[in-house]
Parts: sequence; structure tokens; C-alpha cells
Amino acid sequence: MIAEGLLCYCRPGFEPELAAELSERAALAGIAGYARTERNSGFVQFLGEHGAAMSKALPYSGLIFARQKLRLLAELKDIDPKDRIAPMFDALAGRGRYGDLWVEHPDSDESRQLAGLARSFANALRPALRQRGLLTDKEDPRLPRLHVCFLDGNHALLAAGDVRDGSLWPLGVPRLRQLSEAPSRSALKLEEAILTLMTPDERERLLKPGMNAADLGAAPGGWSWVLARQHIRVAAIDNGPLAESALATGIIEHIRADGFLWTPPKPLDWMVCDMVESPRKVATRMAEWFAHDGCQHSIFNLKLPMKKRWDETRMCLELFENKAGKPLIVRARQLYHDREEITVFASNPEARPRAL
Ligand code: SAM
Repeated sequence: MIAEGLLCYCRPGFEPELAAELSERAALAGIAGYARTERNSGFVQFLGEHGAAMSKALPYSGLIFARQKLRLLAELKDIDPKDRIAPMFDALAGRGRYGDLWVEHPDSDESRQLAGLARSFANALRPALRQRGLLTDKEDPRLPRLHVCFLDGNHALLAAGDVRDGSLWPLGVPRLRQLSEAPSRSALKLEEAILTLMTPDERERLLKPGMNAADLGAAPGGWSWVLARQHIRVAAIDNGPLAESALATGIIEHIRADGFLWTPPKPLDWMVCDMVESPRKVATRMAEWFAHDGCQHSIFNLKLPMKKRWDETRMCLELFENKAGKPLIVRARQLYHDREEITVFASNPEARPRAL
């Protein structure tokens, strides 16, 4: 059955937030659509008549709760397990060529058992698609990527991905390896934020050796350590102790103080914050840093333990942008390494590199 709309993956349990986000953003763009989803399934379909317009109006970079954004092509139900390929060809007929193939399943507990099927089916489908001229011999990022998403052994969604408008990783899950000397697992959160919320150009320009940063709520020191590995000097603010590996960098200074009250003796390039506090209180404090020119760039985390998480997210981001006192680049996402929380990147586009 041909399907029009979007297929987005998300953290299982956050389908209502993603559905609310897609519905609200589409309505604001004047695009009709409705979300179809099931709690804990790990994905949301956003259906409507104008898939192309919908996709354009909802760029992946602007979505907070989507790990991946794809354009739906078809829903295949009651697939015969003896021949899963034939119905795919029927659905793909006349729709052009693809530059890559990913066979996936949602990242939910229930669907993880489909990993073996996804692997073996990809090995069977790839040469069959090539034989029909539907898949290029070599990966071609200029063409759409074909996604087959198995919901169970006889039910699949077909979708198309655009490398410029989606996650670069299967299931939208980045492959990051935790180094043994990292002071905490949280280090991966900041690494993922730098990799996914900043552009390659921003990473090059805004993370320079010799810069200065503050890390509010730093203990045991994972985020400070990630910055120190970029040769950025860090004032690590926390009453709790820092790990030896953080202190061993030699460029992290531990300051025992309240992260909501501490102010830097001179303006800094960066301020990062992972304090566990009410998101409104954190968003307000982050805005004050920008309003008072305490920092030029920031990555901060907003914890979302409440029920109406989409409403709270929107409210906190509005609060932050209104109180920051200047136009900022702001991007937010629920990272793979985020649990009940989102991570925000904010940057002053007028920032000049400070004297080192
Ligand atoms: N980002 C850290 C890392 O990578 O290792 C983990 C931070 S942990 C999730 C939260 C930290 O915030 C705790 O160490 C806690 O002591 C600190 N914290 C909470 N409220 C704070 C406050 N008002 N001032 C300073 N630190 C605070």
C-alpha cells in the first residue's frame, strides 16, 4: 500500500512528544497531517497527502524528538515470509533509483529481535535491487537512501532518506565508543551533542585550543574532560569530587561552588551545564549567561521528568531565547545518550574569537 508522509524514529516512550512536535510544527507551516503511533514502539508515522511539502517544512535539523526522519513510500502488510522481495519491487516500481540500502527495525525492546532478519534480508535484497537497476553499485549520497523498516516478520515500512536531511547513522543511533579513561558515561552525551548539534564548520571554528570554558554541575568530570581533550581550559563547578582522569588533564580547575550562583571572573568562550534541576530554572540561568556576555557558546541539558514533556520543552526554549537578550543559533535534540532529557546547543553568531 502506497503511503505518504514521514517516518521518524525516536527513543521508545517518547512517541507522544514526537507526535506532538510533528503535529504542531506541521500546523504552524500550514501543512495538514496526522500522527499515527503506539507507545513504546520507537517510531511515529506522520501521514498526509503532501509528503514532499511536509518533509520540506519539517527539516530534520529542527526536530527535537526525532532520531531519524524519512519519507514514507509504502506500508507492506501480510508479507509472505517465503518471498519478501516481490512486494517490495511492486511498491518501488517507477519510483527511481537509490544510492544506498538500510534494512532496519525500530529501537524498541520488542523489535530488537528483528536484527537478524534485517541483516540477512539486506544481504538478499541488495543484489536483487542492483540486478533491477534500482540500487547503484557503489554508495551514492546524491541519490535517496532506501530504508526497509521491519515492524515484524511480515510487516514492513518502506521509506526514503536524504543524507542532507536526516541522521547519518542507522536507526539514528551514533556509534560512539566510551574511552576507558572517561570520568563518566555522560562524556558520550557531550561528544554526541558536539557531533550532531554542531556543523563540521562550527566544530572547526568554535572549539579551538586555548579557549576557556565553565562546566556547571561538572562532577565527576565527563563533560570537562571532553572539552579538555579539545585543549580547552575548564573551570569545573561542582561541590562533588572530580575523577582523577579529569584532574590529570592539567587544564581542568575544580571549583567547589553553586553552579547557579558562580560567575566567571572574565567572559568565557564556552559554558556547558548538566546540573540536575528544574528545566525552567536551568533555561533561565543559561539565558542570563548570554544576556550578561558570560559566554558565547553553550551546550546544556534540560531534564524532563514531568508528564507534558513537549509543552515543557517548547516553553523552556522560548524562555531561554526570550531572556538571552540577543539572537542566537539554537538547536536542540533528544540525543541517543539522553534519557528523560534533551540537549541544547546555543551560539552567538556575532561571536569574535577571543585573544588566546
Ligand atoms: N556532566 C557530568 C559528567 O559528565 O560527569 C555529570 C553531571 S551529573 C548528571 C549532575 C551534577 O550536577 C552532579 O555532580 C551534582 O553535584 C551537580 N549539581 C547539581 N546542582 C548543582 C548546583 N546547584 N551547583 C553545582 N553543581 C550542581
